[in-house]
Amino acid sequence: MGTGEQLTPVAEPPAAGPEPAPGADFSLSEEQELLRREVRRFAEERIRPGVEERDREHRFPEAVVREMGEMGLLGVLVPEEYGGAGLDKLSYVLAVEELARVCPSTAVTMSVTNSVCCWPIAEFGSEEQKRRFLPELASGACIGGFGLTEPGSGSDAASMRSTARREGDWWVLDGEKAWITNAGFAGYYVVMAKTDPERDKRGVSAFVVPADAEGLEVGTPEDKLGLRASRTAPLVLNGCRVPADHLLGEEGQGFYIALATLDHSRLGIAAQAVGIHQRALELARDYARDRVQFGVPIARHQAIQFMIARMSTELAAARLLTRYAAWAADHGSGAPRLAAEAKLYASEAANRACYDALQIHGGNGFCEEYEIARLYRDVRVTTIYEGTSEIQRLVIARHLLRDD
Ligand SMILES: Cc1cc2nc3c(=O)[nH]c(=O)nc-3n(C[C@H](O)[C@H](O)[C@H](O)COP(=O)(O)OP(=O)(O)OC[C@H]3O[C@@H](n4cnc5c(N)ncnc54)[C@H](O)[C@@H]3O)c2cc1C
Repeated sequence: MGTGEQLTPVAEPPAAGPEPAPGADFSLSEEQELLRREVRRFAEERIRPGVEERDREHRFPEAVVREMGEMGLLGVLVPEEYGGAGLDKLSYVLAVEELARVCPSTAVTMSVTNSVCCWPIAEFGSEEQKRRFLPELASGACIGGFGLTEPGSGSDAASMRSTARREGDWWVLDGEKAWITNAGFAGYYVVMAKTDPERDKRGVSAFVVPADAEGLEVGTPEDKLGLRASRTAPLVLNGCRVPADHLLGEEGQGFYIALATLDHSRLGIAAQAVGIHQRALELARDYARDRVQFGVPIARHQAIQFMIARMSTELAAARLLTRYAAWAADHGSGAPRLAAEAKLYASEAANRACYDALQIHGGNGFCEEYEIARLYRDVRVTTIYEGTSEIQRLVIARHLLRDD
């Protein structure tokens, strides 16, 4: 899932872009704070036990995912009339952050279902599609997936090769989708394919593909560096038949749907990075207080203090930027640029934090017995998926430099 597009050169210096609106307030309401605490409790009590084992065994947390569905965490943004919790995006990022603090794998399973499967269906689906697909997804009866990336097209998603052709009452999809989170566990995938290859990105359409569609196969799961308790695998579309009314939005609107989906879903990855960063800081601080070298806890050495101070400062900046971007998405303009800025900053800051936190652990940090080793592996992908850092910079620059 990438999508960087070429910049249009401009003659005049650009405007600074959207600033916080007068009266902007993204402090937490009582309900939001309650949700944050409830998800933290759930993550500590229900997800933390067994988290290392599931990571070691690359085991998908099916029971935990079921419980998340019962709590309403798989349909956070889905309107209540379609069985969801009907909450705002700030609530959503709070929930993702708390899950990621304990298990980034579980957080991505949840965020993919919410933001790249439920969201485009809720936003672009017909009334009938919303009633058919959303209640199942929001209740956790099944989870969701998103198929944009292919073996030959990542950042340049418009160069996808998958096709869809109409045959009577069916669409028939052919091609291969790569790196699909929740593949094999999802009940529905939102999949992009070209209905008119001549028209490049304007020839892309989006489909809701049920897991049991004829001709849909799940390939061998990836053996990943991190996020090992989340499932990532290719989807093979081998004459895959979906009913005609599974077209999402209009024919030819699929690339726009993909971009709009990523514009908002990046908030979830920013929040995932913030949750990992928070935990890295906690682990570094605790270890630095306990570990004695040269007769004092290493927390007394200034070099260690400086690392912890930077982690804490960057965590505050990343969290505020992420919450502000979520608030902007709930309230008004500038949201896509802010989401890209939040994802870029939070993911890179979290990578720095995990690097330093592991350094503070010395040799122990290099050992899987210590939690920081898992976080160090898990955090790496946050600068890569849902658009790499390089693509976020292109997106940000495109918003700032465009000719309005
Ligand atoms: C664990 C995991 C889960 C994923 N889940 C999903 C999913 O559920 N659904 C889905 O569709 N995809 C998914 N992806 C795919 C992911 O979004 C892509 O990996 C990502 O968009 C990058 O594409 P790529 O890997 O092909 O890298 P490439 O696009 O080949 O990029 C390689 C390098 O070149 C750089 N680069 C490329 N173009 C430019 C440019 N114009 N300017 C500067 N630098 C550039 C990139 O930044 C990167 O550093 C997942 C990936 C991973 C690792």
